[in-house]
Amino acid sequence: MDMDKLVSLCKRRGFLFQSSEIYGGLNGFWDYGPLGVELKRNIKEAWWRDMITGHDDLAAPAGAPDVFQMVGLDSTIIMHPQIWKCSGHYDLFHDFMVDCRESKKRYRYDQVRGRWLSAKGKEIFVCTSVEASQEDADLQQRALKFFNLRGKDVDQLAWKGETITLAKLERQPSDEGSYSAVLGPDAKELGTLTEPREFNLMFKTIVGAMGTEEDAAFLRPETAQGIFVNFKNVVDSSRVNVPFGIGQIGKSFRNEITPRNFTFRSREFEQMEIEFFCHPSQSPQWYQYWRDRRFRWYTDLGLAGERLRLRDHDQDELSHYSCGTADIEYAFPFLPPGEFGELEGVAHRGDFDLRSHMEGKLVRQGETLVVEQGADGKPRHRGSGKDLTYYNEITRERFLPHVIEPSAGADRATLAFLCEAYHEDQAPDEKGEMQTRLVLRLHPRLAPYKAAVFPLVKKDGMPEVAQRIYRDLKSQFTVYYDDKGAVGRRYRRQDEIGTPVCITVDGQTLIDNTVTFRDRDSLKQWRVKVDECRAELGKKVMA
Ligand code: ATP
Repeated sequence: MDMDKLVSLCKRRGFLFQSSEIYGGLNGFWDYGPLGVELKRNIKEAWWRDMITGHDDLAAPAGAPDVFQMVGLDSTIIMHPQIWKCSGHYDLFHDFMVDCRESKKRYRYDQVRGRWLSAKGKEIFVCTSVEASQEDADLQQRALKFFNLRGKDVDQLAWKGETITLAKLERQPSDEGSYSAVLGPDAKELGTLTEPREFNLMFKTIVGAMGTEEDAAFLRPETAQGIFVNFKNVVDSSRVNVPFGIGQIGKSFRNEITPRNFTFRSREFEQMEIEFFCHPSQSPQWYQYWRDRRFRWYTDLGLAGERLRLRDHDQDELSHYSCGTADIEYAFPFLPPGEFGELEGVAHRGDFDLRSHMEGKLVRQGETLVVEQGADGKPRHRGSGKDLTYYNEITRERFLPHVIEPSAGADRATLAFLCEAYHEDQAPDEKGEMQTRLVLRLHPRLAPYKAAVFPLVKKDGMPEVAQRIYRDLKSQFTVYYDDKGAVGRRYRRQDEIGTPVCITVDGQTLIDNTVTFRDRDSLKQWRVKVDECRAELGKKVMA
């Protein structure tokens, strides 16, 4: 699938717009248009329903080690700054970046890619930061320009080895701490890139009128911490018993150094996170359960092909507190063949988070986690001091629960569902001639409109019947009414936004009170009685 085609469809049909577009846009920020907002809401609602409100608190679902409860939460975006100090985000939440002294641009260290080549007796490492599909062309063009060569002189460029990231570049002894043979992604001269430096990804803001550094706060980079700091409130107010989970959907903010790949890496995005609290002895089984359950959620909604995979992290990839992590990944079309991008991480976090908020920021010491101390011997970042342990009244045991965290991104899920749904096939037009048809094969639960209702022509009482059907369906489904243009064209307009069913009122309706139902994917048509439209549509889209 060609990513440019999807991007253009998203803009043309009102799924996604660049934020602040009339002012030239703002890098890393995206707006969802009239259809995009419906699609994303449907994804979030499917998640909320499948994980929280639709969960059966009375019986253990298949694969679960026990019965459990699920509840929801909506915490604030700006929270007490100490939360981020104890969670580790204040000290640790960073990426490495390199600056270019010449172009004044900043790049993520692991995203600058380049390749060695020699020409005119000189050896250089030429870099690029463009997307994978344009990488080779950009490298060639930049090399030609650097050596003052023309297109017909490409033979003079002797490339060596594969394209690798700057992070993998073996430094020359002559480099002496600088990238002397490296041509930065936007530089004209060699050796303009700085050494990699750390850069905190949290957006800072000021709370209150004083505007001093003491009033500095952060926009949350994840929704999870809002759940941990409310753990005790939920236990005390909701009659939940461990094991149980708290789910939250909300905005998160990360000052990504190089936002890219459409909405995949944005600076403002939405997360759908669950923190599942359980007894330490059962946590490995619960980890397994959530890892499999979350993977199945995507496949049930249509990401069923080879492009989706569940990948367990290697030991050296695990965070210092994690006993197991798996990523649910999708082979987005903008990635090089064989590469996958993360949709969701499912992590076994042990008691790291609750302990951090009780005692203070933790660090690993050998096999155990201890409170990090400052030079004065006191905790570097003090915890809340509140008791966050849980008391089981039946077993009379007090313990600090372990946490399993399935953490998903609503925007990345939306993008993956769009990529997977995008198809071009052949379908006959009005004259029976085969034409290329663009169709979004979205799962009916996710489709922005569940049906479109058309009168075949705007006369003979057809619009009146069609409008009656439209109004009747509207009370239960999101439906669209269209009476403009040839009916074939109206079908096409619905196909390319993923509407699963079109309902047409035609000449026969006036004779036998039936309408034509048409299926988006199979193009099959069948007749349905006018007063059975609601039930028939329900069967099609709620199956
Ligand atoms: P990456 O390595 O791709 O930056 P991450 O491992 O930092 O992601 P997490 O901290 O695990 O991501 O966040 C959980 C989920 O939030 C991710 O799986 C993803 O779906 C979503 N997410 C994280 N960062 C972004 C972003 N910049 N834009 C859109 N979604 C994001």
